Amino acid sequence: MNKNFLSNLTGSFAMPAMENPTVAMVEAAYQHHQLDWRYINCEVSPELLKDAVRGARAMGWAGFNCSIPHKVAVIEHLDGLGQSAMIIGAVNTVVRNARGEYIGENTDGRGFVTALNEVTDPQGAQVILFGAGGAARAVAVEMAFAGAAHITVVNRSRERGEKLTRLICKKTPATATFAIWDGDFRLPADTDIVINATSIGLYPNIDQQLDINWETLSSDMVVADGIHNPPMTPLLRTAQQKGCKCVNGQQMLVHQGAIGIHYWTGIEVDTRVMYQALREIFNPE
Ligand code: NDP
Repeated sequence: MNKNFLSNLTGSFAMPAMENPTVAMVEAAYQHHQLDWRYINCEVSPELLKDAVRGARAMGWAGFNCSIPHKVAVIEHLDGLGQSAMIIGAVNTVVRNARGEYIGENTDGRGFVTALNEVTDPQGAQVILFGAGGAARAVAVEMAFAGAAHITVVNRSRERGEKLTRLICKKTPATATFAIWDGDFRLPADTDIVINATSIGLYPNIDQQLDINWETLSSDMVVADGIHNPPMTPLLRTAQQKGCKCVNGQQMLVHQGAIGIHYWTGIEVDTRVMYQALREIFNPE
């Protein structure tokens, strides 16, 4: 008998971990491509993150995802950062390189841009970005490197919004301005792409809508929502009624996951298998 019983290990460290569907879509891809790889969804508290990373090293994990609340805190436990993770200042994917070092990458923004590319090219785009948290940072940086001309950061709190605006202007090729979000936001007529990178609409607040003056949304604008649960948000419903092209958060989730699998295994996975796994979870009927 000459059989290898030692699988390659990957996984996720987050808290809470219970509602994170990533394991289902990543394992669906591993199985479809007949990869002897496993993905283990782990609930890890902030005090034990250091030990979790040491554990992953000890067990020879090929890499892992980090989600809330570890995306920034994990950095001090790693051996280095990829270029965009360094600019974004957060890591969602850790990759073991040939030297056995753990390098932090951020695939959230690239996953978003890949999903967006299915409906529009961000080259030269005027972008309205709602939110200035971790997801917004990742999306803004990758949109800028994908060629977006100008990003207006619209955020409720001035401090975070201005900080992201400065980051875009200093560290990326795009220009940016900040707009405080203190009521019905009027979308400028030259807007090409509207992005929700806030947590508005996330389960269980599924009826929560963005405070936008809907008369200013026109059918030639592309509307993208980072919320993956549920995939059809009040924002996307309104945008569809207006006739806008839309991108949902599940598309972003699938593509950021596929980029992560590529980092770990070198395989370009069939993302349809990953969508199908999510569809079975979120739209079982
Ligand atoms: P953060 O907590 O870092 O940021 C949250 C952002 O939402 C802030 O800008 C905050 O504004 C804003 N916000 C929250 N509630 C409101 C409100 N009621 N009114 C106005 N603004 C509000 O979260 P993340 O950036 O990490 O995540 C944001 C969302 O992105 C989450 O829902 C997450 O699920 C999603 N996401 C999706 C991914 C995917 O692959 N589809 C990947 C990563 C994230 P303020 O600064 O004023 O507090």
